[in-house]
Amino acid sequence: EHKSSSNFLRNIILEDLKSGKVDHIVTRFPPEPNGYLHIGHAKSIILNFELADEFKGKTHLRFDDTNPTKEDTEYVQSIKEDVQWLGYEWDELFFASNYFEEMYNRAVLLIKKGKAYVCDLSAEEIRKTRGSLTEPGQPSPWRNRSLEENLELFEGMRRGIFKDGEKVLRAKIDMASPNINLRDPVLYRIAHASHHNTGDKWCIYPMYDFAHPLEDAIEGVTHSICTLEFEDHRPLYDWIVRECEMENVPQQYEFARLNLTNTVMSKRKLKQLVEDKIVDGWNDPRMPTISGLRRKGYTPEAMRNFAREIGVAKADSVVDTKMLEHFIREDLKLKVPRTMAVLRPLKVIITNYPEDQVEMLEAENNTENPEMGSRSIPFSREIYIEQDDFAENPPPKYHRLYLGNEVRLKNAYFIKCNEIVKDESGKVLELHCTYDQETKSGTGFTGRKVKGTIHWVEARQAIPAEFRLYEPLILEDDTDDSGSFLEHINPNSLEIVHGYVEPTMKVSKPQDKFQFFRHGYFNVDPLYSISDHLVFNRIVSLKSSFEL
Ligand code: ATP
Ligand code: MG
Ligand code: MG
Repeated sequence: EHKSSSNFLRNIILEDLKSGKVDHIVTRFPPEPNGYLHIGHAKSIILNFELADEFKGKTHLRFDDTNPTKEDTEYVQSIKEDVQWLGYEWDELFFASNYFEEMYNRAVLLIKKGKAYVCDLSAEEIRKTRGSLTEPGQPSPWRNRSLEENLELFEGMRRGIFKDGEKVLRAKIDMASPNINLRDPVLYRIAHASHHNTGDKWCIYPMYDFAHPLEDAIEGVTHSICTLEFEDHRPLYDWIVRECEMENVPQQYEFARLNLTNTVMSKRKLKQLVEDKIVDGWNDPRMPTISGLRRKGYTPEAMRNFAREIGVAKADSVVDTKMLEHFIREDLKLKVPRTMAVLRPLKVIITNYPEDQVEMLEAENNTENPEMGSRSIPFSREIYIEQDDFAENPPPKYHRLYLGNEVRLKNAYFIKCNEIVKDESGKVLELHCTYDQETKSGTGFTGRKVKGTIHWVEARQAIPAEFRLYEPLILEDDTDDSGSFLEHINPNSLEIVHGYVEPTMKVSKPQDKFQFFRHGYFNVDPLYSISDHLVFNRIVSLKSSFEL
């Protein structure tokens, strides 16, 4: 039982069921297979599946594949994978391209009704003659072709006797309409291009505004939910459904798209990052794609809880990325083991500890979740600590290790620093410390207190590991649609460091997640991590100023 965000779409559905306008609910998620899905799509997936689910309805996954040149089966695969990973199972899977014949027939019907015509103007001429908000459009010189001529030309378009751009089919609506979308919009264009599903069968392809309402109507979708930029297209959507005499009458509703701070959220831009090799593929952990976030270590639960919290709005806004981070912390907090990892190691020799002794110490796996039990970790004369847990010249209020100071080693003993060993250049090579047997963790020692607790890993059994630390890929909010986001790429979005993890982690598998004491949450990278070379992606650090 989850907290469902109350939203206006639910209220519309409730009304529609109550008034008898519909007696069942069908929604759809209609991606164009021209890229990988991003977190914005996740919002739409979650919304469509959960709304239908709440009213015992159905949700279709439909590939809106009406544009041959940009689409690819690689994208079809990745989209299916991402939807399933998020936790949803579609009731039906459809390809819009399977409706090409039916769409063609509906276009012929429009021509026969005098509601569509073949136009010879170029794309540029059409754009110019459609006018603007202050200026009415100019009718095309081809607007009054006879039915017979239109039918013959449209059939010729289909047969391939014209070149790309030579002719289009346009709806005949109203060149003076205050809504520019109704000024004889283009319904079909010529493109001699192979299609991932239909191959070379077609050389004319329907435009989004013609195809989408037909797809919804053919499938019996009741509530067709899209983003706000399609609000002005709704009258055209309704016109197409009506004039094409579709039996099912779907209704379009719009909601605000998700935008996140420091994030580009458009497939076109994400594709550019991949093609320009600014990132290492669509699933680079810095990408806001579902596959990138998954590889970074995000869980479906965190994404769903995030989507529910932000809810559905009617006005565009930018959500703080820190909110998304909040939900992954919350999700992992009680679920994953808390272990120790040293990211930037400094060797410590405990000079009063017996040379060849190793003892096993008990460590709780999750201090907030006792059910996770405990593990044994080795302790010996040599350990690694974090370089910045030691200071040669400690600043004020520094409570970690410095010459003469004593700190607590998490789950082990107090140690005191007695000597700094350096090379000729003055670089610190190792520290010589002594431990106090009396201070062993768990024995209830109260003799004296220390102010700092630091983490460590026993050196002889430590497992080498690579840690990948991420910062935002984009340094500004993405507010315009120009290419300028490339100027705001963060040159330091990835830092790679090499250190050690506890020996128990030798068996970690791809996508295993941990909280490393004081460092945050990490995920075993599924691509770069191989048995002898563990690679961890930092999902998120521990603390945040963010509050819900
Ligand atoms: P982009 O602009 O990133 O290329 P798109 O809208 O062209 O996205 P589609 O494949 O057409 O991508 O989108 C499939 C569905 O996902 C559509 O219903 C669309 O409204 C929705 N969607 C896309 N981006 C967002 C977003 N940022 N927030 C919410 N929903 C989105
Ligand atoms: Mg689209
Ligand atoms: Mg797009």
